[in-house]
Amino acid sequence: MQIRLALPSDLAAVRDRLRAVFGPQRTEHRMDPVSQLIKAVVGSRTYDEVAWAAFIRLRAAFPNWATLTLADPAQIEPVIDPVTHAADKARRLPILIRVIILKRGELDLDFLKDEPLDEAMEWLTRLPGVGVKAAAASLNFSTLARPVLTVDTHVHRVGERLGLAARGGDQKQAYQTLMEQTPTDWDAERFFELHWLLKAHGQSICTHFDPACGLCALRDACPRVGVGRDQEGEVVAFRTPGG
Ligand code: SF4
Repeated sequence: MQIRLALPSDLAAVRDRLRAVFGPQRTEHRMDPVSQLIKAVVGSRTYDEVAWAAFIRLRAAFPNWATLTLADPAQIEPVIDPVTHAADKARRLPILIRVIILKRGELDLDFLKDEPLDEAMEWLTRLPGVGVKAAAASLNFSTLARPVLTVDTHVHRVGERLGLAARGGDQKQAYQTLMEQTPTDWDAERFFELHWLLKAHGQSICTHFDPACGLCALRDACPRVGVGRDQEGEVVAFRTPGG
């Protein structure tokens, strides 16, 4: 059963409180959607700095993404290593690019700017190796600037603990539940900011194993779903099926 926050009562309030801690988060540079999709796929389940370094090396090795269609995965893997599952990603990337070209006749995702949001998400998540997180990042972070929340592992975990996403659900369910709760008038920048604020919060305060609830700007309202205390009274995080 989903538990609603008493206070802050909505994601706008969560954003305001976290912004007071971490400062405003704004986009400084938006990549084209194909580049953003490749960045998201290469960087999944990988620390940001490792993912960015791998993406930059990949871009240098393949300045024209279309040439990835002809690339041998054995060429790609050492370029993106040490991202998580580098061999799998190296195998899937040429397939991903080929499928986009097959479906669209060109390597261009700008058409997604005008598609209804649900259809744009569905189109992207039907691509091989593209999940909800990569699809949302491609739509929100790129020049498409679509109003959609990117739910990564940190956003998912914080959403669960706040009672805003069902405990133990998968990332797609968390995405859907959180999207239902975002104000309908939010633009892409607000979704972008909420993502990065929740992520910063999840990386520094509401961490996976050791949430610092005593330091948390949301503690008076948070039901701390899945978080408890051990025999010494220390805050501990209980593992959840989704966590
Ligand atoms: S009160 Fe604790 S569990 Fe809740 S958001 Fe803050 S750090 Fe996370």
